[in-house]
Amino acid sequence: MLLSYLLILISASVMKCDKNPSSGTKYFDIVILNGRVIDPESNLDAKKNIGIKNGSVQLITAMEIKGRTSINAQGLVVAPGFIDMHQHGQDNENYAYKVMDGVTTALELEMGTSDVDRWYSEREGKAYINYGVSIGHVPLRMKIMHDPGGFAPVANAVYRTASDSEIVKLKEGIEYGLNRGALGVGFGLMYTPAATRWEILEMFRIAGKTKAPCYVHMRYAGLREPNSCIAALEEVISASAITGAPLHVVHITSLGFSYTPRILQMIKEAHSRAMDITVECYPYTATQTTIESAVYDEGWQESFGISYSDLQWAATGERLTAESFAKYRKTGGMVIAHSIPEDVVKSTIADSIVIVASDGMLQGGKGHPRGTGTFARVLGKYVREEKLLTLSEGLRKITLMPAERLEKIAPVMKNKGRIREGADADITIFDPENIIDQATYDEPAKYSKGISYVLVNGTVVVNNGQLQDNVFAGKAVRGIIK
Ligand SMILES: [Zn+2]
Repeated sequence: MLLSYLLILISASVMKCDKNPSSGTKYFDIVILNGRVIDPESNLDAKKNIGIKNGSVQLITAMEIKGRTSINAQGLVVAPGFIDMHQHGQDNENYAYKVMDGVTTALELEMGTSDVDRWYSEREGKAYINYGVSIGHVPLRMKIMHDPGGFAPVANAVYRTASDSEIVKLKEGIEYGLNRGALGVGFGLMYTPAATRWEILEMFRIAGKTKAPCYVHMRYAGLREPNSCIAALEEVISASAITGAPLHVVHITSLGFSYTPRILQMIKEAHSRAMDITVECYPYTATQTTIESAVYDEGWQESFGISYSDLQWAATGERLTAESFAKYRKTGGMVIAHSIPEDVVKSTIADSIVIVASDGMLQGGKGHPRGTGTFARVLGKYVREEKLLTLSEGLRKITLMPAERLEKIAPVMKNKGRIREGADADITIFDPENIIDQATYDEPAKYSKGISYVLVNGTVVVNNGQLQDNVFAGKAVRGIIK
């Protein structure tokens, strides 16, 4: 009796909280007050209050509003949550660093998975941030050819040409993955050099049928003909033109090096022929991948324009020699290559067509700093310190542009990457005067500075600069299941 009386009282007070006609103010779950709200889609850049209810933005206003929780964003920027189109590390070790770098959605699109259903079910209800995956040509090739590799293939999937029946299996695997809501098709052509151009075209044909984007790490890097990044880009632009599959070229600076401006020129020329091509880069001058992969097959020094001493062993930070290179190539592991000129990083980030994405993967606190600092670095180093971009331009590259690339295949992305009424309350609130990356090549496992609050689907995951324990607010970003 007492309990039901209490319940009536409580429900009455909740109802009263919804609207308070006497004062004209509205009540929300959460309100973000007095922040500088920047939305790259509408070009809103003004001091506003935001009311959030049931996980979405319900009101953006200059009026006074109230909520059960209120966040004072005075002096801070309130932006759409950052979207990372290239995040290999897909566990809570990685998600913790992502959200502390302002990321609310992290997607594994380049490598992808061979089992879309399992990939999503492994993360459901357990992720700090939103997650999503492509169906991957590389992992499918590894599965079909029984390659024992891990992140990258090391045996059959690298060196053996696929038979006609294996190509059929690959096509079926890609089609099945897309039907299960994969976000497109991932390719790591440099990791599968024995995959013929015809095989790749066959994969693009499947993607083209439903206009699923193809996310590609190109076949070649660097300057040396005939296997240059120019030839590599021609291959995938052709595949896109022939099949109609939209194309996304990943981390162009770590494939193009000093030729990156030529890559961008070629893509803009393709745009002028109405082709659907996007590109991304990360804001660092070094690359990272597994030393045992085909990337470090014979000839890497000439292709990348570097030598042993430009390589750094991720696990220890040591610079390599011919001897240690040979040793580690046998044992396997992550190697960092200092190979991208700083002026190329700058001009690429400043280019209006380029999305910023991290290519991140932290394992036991080891890895490349791009996995933990990419987003704060763009806003701190390249926007604030070097003034390469305006704040709004910088934000556009990490919010709206990735959302627009994804939203045709995954309609949920229409409500991400923007702050507008009806959008998901994925929101990053940061201090524009202090935001900066702290991760280095020697110490990658360092949270960025200046990220004050992060909301994921209307839940506070970072509160006053502190990651909240076990707040698994992330949801699947998935295409339509057919
Ligand atoms: Zn890659």
